[in-house]
Amino acid sequence: MSSLFQNYTRRPIHLVKGKGTIVTDANGKDYLDFTSGIAVLSLGHTHPAIVQAIQEQSEKLWHISNLFENPEQEKLAETLVSDTHFAHAFFCNSGAEANEAAIKLARKHTGKHTIITFEKSFHGRTFGAMSATGQDKIRNGFGPLLETFKTVPFNDVSALEAVIDDEVGAIMLEVIQGEGGVNQVTPEFAQAISDICLANGILLIIDEVQTGISRTGTRYAYEQTVLKPDIMTLAKGLGGGFPIGAMLGTADLHDSLGPGTHGTTFGGNPLAVAVAQTVLDNVFVP
Ligand SMILES: *Cc1c(COP(=O)(O)O)cnc(C)c1O
Repeated sequence: MSSLFQNYTRRPIHLVKGKGTIVTDANGKDYLDFTSGIAVLSLGHTHPAIVQAIQEQSEKLWHISNLFENPEQEKLAETLVSDTHFAHAFFCNSGAEANEAAIKLARKHTGKHTIITFEKSFHGRTFGAMSATGQDKIRNGFGPLLETFKTVPFNDVSALEAVIDDEVGAIMLEVIQGEGGVNQVTPEFAQAISDICLANGILLIIDEVQTGISRTGTRYAYEQTVLKPDIMTLAKGLGGGFPIGAMLGTADLHDSLGPGTHGTTFGGNPLAVAVAQTVLDNVFVP
């Protein structure tokens, strides 16, 4: 019997190395890797620039916690927000954690309880992110879930309008639902979300954990819509295979995430930052 919990259905392939788009199993058989590590390997397997970044940083400094200044983390934040309306970034270690940060920030900033999310959405497996996820197969057996989230059908303007009241602090969505089946937000729905947020002072959170870092042709997928999120979350492709997540926010939100409000031990550590900076230097070409 395996020493692992059996919470994954694993293919019976033991991969031992990779280069670019090709991975090789223990028997020496090559495969063309269309999985990309679940939308993670922005530069492919063992890209020389990432190998070099890890080698160089690993000989200098791996981890310092967030008790000290970190100009490299500052630079990574600047790279992520450059040419956008965002002003600040917070670093963590995964997509679910980035969404937890977004949920906390939206609640703290607005003082309101309700966050609208959508059917077939996916926001991660932690308790808050799972409660935000509009798929029963993800949530079954874990109830009762957080009451903060109200899930409505995607791309349905009247269903969305029907749940807007004074308690709604934020609307949270993927502009292209990934795990839910590659469903794009329609231009009409995007316009309706934009109008509803503006008219009611509701924050817009866009989860770009899967669509971000140039996966859809622009740095972030929201750029191809009318939507202008107050908060955006990133992970997957940001680290090119190294675990890192980020939440970006506008200048208005700065004071709501002051000292001591939120944090994580590993978030934005020097090794993760060196890798993510290398990814962006190669992907965000002007
Ligand atoms: C994968 C994914 C997440 C969760 O990211 P983890 O790093 O697995 O926690 C959240 N949102 C979207 C849209 C995703 O595709």
